[in-house]
Amino acid sequence: MTKKDDTLRQIYSKIRLEERITPNEGLILLKDAPWLELAQLAWEKRVKKVGGDKASYTLFRIINYTNVCDIGCCFCSFKRTENDKMAYVLTKDEVLEKVEASKKIGIEQIFFQGGVHPNLPLSYYTDILKAVKSDFGVHIRGFSPVEILRLAELNQMTVPKMIGVLKRAGLDSVPGAGAEILSERVRAVLSPNKCSTAQWARIIKQCHQQGLPGSANIVIGSIEKDREIIAHLSLVRKIQDETQGFNSFIPWTFQRQTKDFYVKNILPHDYLKLVSLCRIFLDNIRNLEVSVLVLGEDIGKLALRMGANDISSPVIEENVLRSFGIKSEREAQNLIQEAGFTAVKRDFNYRPLEVFPPVQPGTAPEN
Ligand code: SF4
Repeated sequence: MTKKDDTLRQIYSKIRLEERITPNEGLILLKDAPWLELAQLAWEKRVKKVGGDKASYTLFRIINYTNVCDIGCCFCSFKRTENDKMAYVLTKDEVLEKVEASKKIGIEQIFFQGGVHPNLPLSYYTDILKAVKSDFGVHIRGFSPVEILRLAELNQMTVPKMIGVLKRAGLDSVPGAGAEILSERVRAVLSPNKCSTAQWARIIKQCHQQGLPGSANIVIGSIEKDREIIAHLSLVRKIQDETQGFNSFIPWTFQRQTKDFYVKNILPHDYLKLVSLCRIFLDNIRNLEVSVLVLGEDIGKLALRMGANDISSPVIEENVLRSFGIKSEREAQNLIQEAGFTAVKRDFNYRPLEVFPPVQPGTAPEN
């Protein structure tokens, strides 16, 4: 047995004994562990944490309320300047129409995601939140740390105060969006005007502390190095130790959107290896989502056997990303059942709502 094999075996036994692995051990796994060995360990962790018979999905509608943004991330094709002829800001009535249409087809969760507008008044946000909440009573997730920071700065408020204003207006939870890779070296190249790693971490913690839970993610496929992936996961794990505010973690890959941005070709097994590593390393986050939206159904099914326990959502509207995701609830259930699991419909807080057992052999799935 080589020294490398010996080191891997020692880390594997630590994982099987439910001991937390160090960042350095995480790095060794990422660099040296065969992906199928990591997949087996991640499956064992998944079974211990959430069981091995179910996988979940949720339904929500993303409303991209504006595409005006002055942050200028080089990977983003969604952003527009205020004077661009393609720029838009949805009115309150337009937002309400979208929420009403979603409610009619049984969607009770709304996700507001916008560009970082340079000067929309605070009343734009609070009026919409209040109206959506009072007219429809849906769960409202929204506003990444960079949007919250902009709102606080524009309105000369502290971030905690701004979080309180949004929460009182109706906000229920927050996404971990805008993290990409939490490394100053990477952010300086990809998105130098976006909030820093320290600001992102502070704002997310403040949201959690004020009772706004949510998710966290990582986006790979740019210039990140393995050690930066591990530093990102370590920071998320540390925040979770302090707040317990992350309901889930989602590994994503960048998509090629602009000519200014080179995207690495992430091979399926490299993505799946990251999924497995996340399940093992993030021992304090219960749920791990696979990005079917970006990576497709086959990778999604495999990921459910390699650490993930959720496929997130059929997406009704998603302008920031081009989607080849699942388009209907039935497709989400089929994917999970075809992978051999009972499908569980859940809400944003991971409360189970409805259960759909796997299709028995010889039975045609519903269309
Ligand atoms: S990713 Fe978000 S913050 Fe960055 S430019 Fe696009 S809309 Fe703006």
